[in-house]
Amino acid sequence: MRIAVIGTGYVGLVAGTCFAESGNTVTCVDIDEKKIRRLTDGEVPIYEPGLEELLKRNLHDGRIKFTTRYEEAIPGAEVVFIAVGTPSGEDGSADLKYVLEAARTIARHMTGYLVVVDKSTVPVGTARKVEQAMREVTRHPFDVVSNPEFLKEGAAIDDFLKPDRVVIGSESPRAREVMDTLYGPFVRTGNPILHMDRVSAELTKYAANAMLATRISFMNEIANICSLVGASVDQVRKGIGTDARIGSRFLFAGLGYGGSCFPKDVKAVVHTAAENGYEFRILRAVEQVNEAQKRLLFERIQKHYAGKLAGKRFAVWGLSFKPNTDDMREAPALVVIQGLLAAGARVRVYDPEAMEECRKHHFKDRIEYAQTPMDALEGAHGLVLITEWNEFRNPDFDAVKAALAEPVVFDGRNIYPRKVLERLGFTYYGIGT
Ligand code: NAD
Repeated sequence: MRIAVIGTGYVGLVAGTCFAESGNTVTCVDIDEKKIRRLTDGEVPIYEPGLEELLKRNLHDGRIKFTTRYEEAIPGAEVVFIAVGTPSGEDGSADLKYVLEAARTIARHMTGYLVVVDKSTVPVGTARKVEQAMREVTRHPFDVVSNPEFLKEGAAIDDFLKPDRVVIGSESPRAREVMDTLYGPFVRTGNPILHMDRVSAELTKYAANAMLATRISFMNEIANICSLVGASVDQVRKGIGTDARIGSRFLFAGLGYGGSCFPKDVKAVVHTAAENGYEFRILRAVEQVNEAQKRLLFERIQKHYAGKLAGKRFAVWGLSFKPNTDDMREAPALVVIQGLLAAGARVRVYDPEAMEECRKHHFKDRIEYAQTPMDALEGAHGLVLITEWNEFRNPDFDAVKAALAEPVVFDGRNIYPRKVLERLGFTYYGIGT
């Protein structure tokens, strides 16, 4: 099939590459010229395991190309995916300006029947808005389908090629058939393609992210109670996770959720509810808990040093909002580092992939960037573990202790065993352990 993908961010680039991998001919469009130049050279601008290799292969075989020009992608395409950003507006609603702009531009360049797919996470009713925006521009026939994306950054290729389910919202038999053909290769093991109406498909994506965010905030509150009563959240987690109704995944206490999706999607659901005269009380609490949780580790650090942080230096391990990505959008690291800097402390960071992102878009030269995890520790007054990259899991603790000016570990992800560290002479702070 001939496919166009609009937007080459985490979702568009992965979707385009995976559709090419299954034999389709894909043209990806982005308004960012620099990005398109790099992609054309086979250079992936984000860190996503396995993506570069897959992209290079499909570029080499001529199944995927990149352009800034819609006119090179839309005429002759059978399906167009809209995968541009939908950031939070000031009132928490999803800002649809990029989606609608893309829709109008697609409409200007289409030459015949087209299936237009909302792949971006968009509020209920967006498919209809996209339809209206296009109808004002073109007389050609088209169907607008809602096909939300559930991939996880850091495991995006696997998620896309082997999805738990594919959700397709469309009332058009013609569009459904096109979508079934396209996704057929990815669901051969029997995972379902779920057909539903567009509004339900749109809400499904938000409901999934809101549920996952709720699990995180719920476990963080359990962790906070654990700290107060002397229980261990890791034991409680195992105790409840073995209940099949609960399940063991996504139950880890930590520093709160971040990233480009959960924060904005939770806000968007609250906003959609309010627009319809309903107050989504649980999700308001989920947000409040998350904001407090992001500050928790900094508050622990402050308390340990009785508020005297000026002039001290801290080693921070991990910047990205979770491991295996360089994405720092809404990352807890931002809150912790900001707190330390505001209190007059100095910060030396190490992250396997996100340091360039941090230097360019966040702290620039206000913090120091280390070459290795151990290099970050030299002379620091404490180690602050923020993102649980694998390489941080089993350090040589004797060497860690020798490097630190003071043997204190603030473990924001509970990856270190308290008993072992205390035996070695560290002061250890975890989250609810
Ligand atoms: P992103 O910000 O990484 O990328 C968006 C891209 O769209 C940018 O490269 C931008 O230049 C481009 N763009 C903007 N306007 C354009 C236009 N008119 N024409 C062509 N290109 C344009 O975004 P992302 O993380 O890939 O997310 C995209 C959507 O997918 C969002 O709605 C997001 O909520 C959703 N989503 C994201 C994830 C994720 O893990 N990142 C997962 C599932 C769903």
